[in-house]
Amino acid sequence: MTERLYYHDSFLYDFDARVVEAFESNGRPAIVLDRTAFYPTSGGQVHDLGMLRADGQQIAITEVADEEDGRILHFAAASLSAGTQVHGSVDAARRLDHVQQHSGQHVLSAAFIRLFNMPTVSFHMGEESCTIDLETSGLSAAQAQKAELLANEVIAEDRPVNIRFVPLEEARQLGLRKLPPKQTGDLRLIDITDFDLTACGGTHVRATGQIGSILLRKIEKVKQGVRVEFVCGLRAVAMARHDYSTLTEAAALYSSHIYDVPEQVRKSLAEAKAAGKSQHKLLEELAELYSERLLAQTAGSPQVITQFFPDRDALFIKLLAQKLTAGKSTVIALLASGAGQPTLVFAQTPGQKSNMGQLMKEAMAQLGGRGGGSADMAQGGVPASAQQLEGIESLLLRTAASLKV
Ligand SMILES: [Zn+2]
Repeated sequence: MTERLYYHDSFLYDFDARVVEAFESNGRPAIVLDRTAFYPTSGGQVHDLGMLRADGQQIAITEVADEEDGRILHFAAASLSAGTQVHGSVDAARRLDHVQQHSGQHVLSAAFIRLFNMPTVSFHMGEESCTIDLETSGLSAAQAQKAELLANEVIAEDRPVNIRFVPLEEARQLGLRKLPPKQTGDLRLIDITDFDLTACGGTHVRATGQIGSILLRKIEKVKQGVRVEFVCGLRAVAMARHDYSTLTEAAALYSSHIYDVPEQVRKSLAEAKAAGKSQHKLLEELAELYSERLLAQTAGSPQVITQFFPDRDALFIKLLAQKLTAGKSTVIALLASGAGQPTLVFAQTPGQKSNMGQLMKEAMAQLGGRGGGSADMAQGGVPASAQQLEGIESLLLRTAASLKV
């Protein structure tokens, strides 16, 4: 068993120890010390990083893991031999960040219990933010804000946080917020004065003021209840700074105040929708005019119309094909567009012998595209390369010549 120095002092960053074991685990050097201040990933809290110094060399600790038998594995950049005396240094900034997130979680979980009787069923600490899952069917924005406010009040009150070990039987009488499922020996209790008492192996603040602040972010429904994303301490400041910069950038685009951004976005979306509608109407009118002109220029029955529009897109030639084949004349339209993805549309007035879907398949086989459709209307897309564009016009003419009409 490794002696866990962090159990008694969350702010111990430097310590001396002796290498008990050293071996390879999944191709990585793993070191077991007789005692350590390095926190291993457990109970939702992420492991520490840092250094081991021995015999004039410095070895980076890249991961710390908790073994079932009570040993703590330090995954290291290089190995050391058993018996070596080492000096360990924990990355203090990273540890303080984890302490702030974890103690903040206790305060927040207790706030949800006190206000709404919503128990926390799991805690996850990520690189950017943390989450707790609450056992509840729903959580309103107003409830979340209330819990956030209570948690921040408890932080501002700077309540002492005491850590003590008590036997399991005694702990049962204390009314803990959470009792671990399997436990032998003494329980380690984290006591936030007159606010929360729970069993936990993590590293914690000396008083709630060290948490700094709690900022709730996303709230989403998950299978087991509601997931609340939050950040504490310096992370909350960093994230609020990031949010503010993002909003400021968006506000500058609209030359507006940041609080007016949602209204400006709503306006822009409505304008874009209206512009899209009017553009569609104009396209339809243009297709109608083109249709009339092309029909006037083409003789024969059926009137076979082939036309390549290098500057128009698929929507336009589809509209045009509909106009050409919806009138009184009997028409076969072989159209292509070059803007965006080059597209072919073949259409005919219903009731003729030709099969547009079949012709489209043959055309696509020649152009290296994909497409198909019914006997009266078919569409295909072609990869956008210059050679393909050059081949499209002659393909339309060849297809027209092959028609058996
Ligand atoms: Zn905890």
